Amino acid sequence: MNTDNIITVTSPLLPDLRDFNAMLEQIWASKWVTNNGQFHRQLEKALAEYLGVPFISLFTNGTLPLLTALQALRITGEVITTPYSFVATTHSIWWNGCKPVFVDIEESTCGIDPDKIEAAITPKTTAIMPVHCYGKPCDTARIQAIADKYGLKVIYDAAHAFGVKVNGDSVLNQGDMSTLSFHATKVYNTLEGGALVMKDAETKQRIDYLKNFGFAGETEVVAPGINSKMDEVRAAYGLLNLRLVDASIEARHQVAIRYREALRGISGIRFFDDMPGVRHNYSYFPIFVDAKAYGMTRDELYFKMREQGVWGRRYFYPLISTFSTYRGLDSANPENLPVATRIADEVICLPMHHALSEGDVQKIIDCIVK
Ligand SMILES: *Cc1c(COP(=O)(O)O)cnc(C)c1O
Repeated sequence: MNTDNIITVTSPLLPDLRDFNAMLEQIWASKWVTNNGQFHRQLEKALAEYLGVPFISLFTNGTLPLLTALQALRITGEVITTPYSFVATTHSIWWNGCKPVFVDIEESTCGIDPDKIEAAITPKTTAIMPVHCYGKPCDTARIQAIADKYGLKVIYDAAHAFGVKVNGDSVLNQGDMSTLSFHATKVYNTLEGGALVMKDAETKQRIDYLKNFGFAGETEVVAPGINSKMDEVRAAYGLLNLRLVDASIEARHQVAIRYREALRGISGIRFFDDMPGVRHNYSYFPIFVDAKAYGMTRDELYFKMREQGVWGRRYFYPLISTFSTYRGLDSANPENLPVATRIADEVICLPMHHALSEGDVQKIIDCIVK
């Protein structure tokens, strides 16, 4: 499709092709194209440093680390999670033979509401899987306190939270494990890719076995593992993109500043400000449309923008709990999820990426400020 005259919601951060070619030549010369090659090892080291986390294991996408974290922690029974996310979050619970239990979200962060978690815990609950939605940190202290009280594991889907820090510490250090996605649409990408962040060397060892069929040596298989290794080509691409990511986040920050200046005071349009003490990554810029106050529904605005070549995204709509696989669950009842249900009908993520021009941003703002 030709998208030349369209402002898309995102645009992949791409390394310089000559730099990439030079690395491809090294891969060709080495003939080592996957299975923990030199660029794979370099990228794990560089990412652990950049993110400020003790251990990280690279994956081939952002869904397999979710599946693998649940496997590694031997999660069974019921897992408490949020319906306001990308479907992969809930699917990973389902693929592990566990039952997802949906808990409503807080309006202030779009993350799981800690006040509502305890009521959803049963004797079968073994874990909580929250999402740092839009990269906004969850209330990790309260979630951990509940997990400790009931003996639950916490696995954060941190697909949106690359580089996010709270009071100088990576949000990825919270909970038992955190997962990342390096999909092309994310702040930092390796085309497809992802990672699992863990706290100790033993857990990394076990994850590294699990992502390579459970092989612990040439002839020994210690677990029913899967194949979710990242190859050398994408690891090389990832090393190059890591050099560009800070400038990209800063460019997004400038777009967020422009959006906020222009939209503050527009009746019926709500958006997030920065949170105190948080280093944000500006991965998304959601606005929430109050139809009455704004004079137009979310969908009316969304399609008006589309007609003018501005492609936002209704992210996250519909809620995961409304999809056929999940809508029969008791916890999927919209009465159990009033905030998520309303927010899903109000949200539009505005275009947000490093390559938006001044003119693009003005065009987007003009669509909203009538
Ligand atoms: C993108 C995303 C995923 C899945 O990542 P992939 O790399 O596309 O497999 C999981 N959870 C959330 C919240 C995401 O946004």
